[in-house]
Amino acid sequence: MAPFLDTRTCNDQHGHYSEALTVNDFRRNLSTVRARIEAACQRAGRDPSAVRLLPVSKTKLQASLRMAYEAGCRMFGENKLQEAHQKWESMQDLSDLQWSIIGHLQTNKAKLVARFATEFQALDSLHVAEALDRRLQAEGRSLDVFVQVNTSGEASKYGLAPKDVGVFIQVLPAFSALRVRGLMTLALFSGDVERVRQCFVLLRTLRDQLRQSTPVEVSLDELSMGMSGDFEIAIEEGATVVRIGQAIFGARNVPNSHYWSNNCDIS
Ligand SMILES: *Cc1c(COP(=O)(O)O)cnc(C)c1O
Repeated sequence: MAPFLDTRTCNDQHGHYSEALTVNDFRRNLSTVRARIEAACQRAGRDPSAVRLLPVSKTKLQASLRMAYEAGCRMFGENKLQEAHQKWESMQDLSDLQWSIIGHLQTNKAKLVARFATEFQALDSLHVAEALDRRLQAEGRSLDVFVQVNTSGEASKYGLAPKDVGVFIQVLPAFSALRVRGLMTLALFSGDVERVRQCFVLLRTLRDQLRQSTPVEVSLDELSMGMSGDFEIAIEEGATVVRIGQAIFGARNVPNSHYWSNNCDIS
């Protein structure tokens, strides 16, 4: 069995994948990723239909997104709101295309999210929950949300500390336009597979504990965890959503660590 991570490289995978330039490149990349998802499910004794692939299109140009759409993608994950909103505006002709916001949100941007997103995966504050709910009520819309948890303990990563998630979830039913679906995390950026895996184990364990006391309005079925460099490990530990950019679109110009921390911990 091939190792899931090359231990000399970081799971942020910077520079590993070449740019997808044609619809066929996207078709091939998508089928490779789906085959890897299926293989990981098989190893873990899980049903592949229980794992949703969310293609992450951040930093990529509209032309690329349109090719990915033609290859079958119907939802894109974006981590910067302004960028997501611009793409949404210029791709209105694709009426069945949906948007998932997977990055940190400032309260003053809640209005934009409420206007066009179907899903928000980085909820970690009451202010944002309150602002989103108010704006969604005004728009007559609702939003699927995931509570982001900081499982790596790194100060550079967003998300609630695991110990704070239980109390946070208790108050979410007050925001009736938010449909709580589960938890989301980013693992440690590291070449150390076991430490990466521990982040995923922590999210699953937390979810299992919280399930016993969650309000009826809140569903914790979903675990959004795993990206291009570590999604197989995440699936083995129970991921139901994997957020994959580079393995579908090709490498970005900036490494993932640029978004959240200064460098990768290559042990
Ligand atoms: C960019 C990003 C991903 C995808 O990372 P890849 O290395 O491109 O697969 C996943 N989750 C979040 C929150 C991201 O910002």
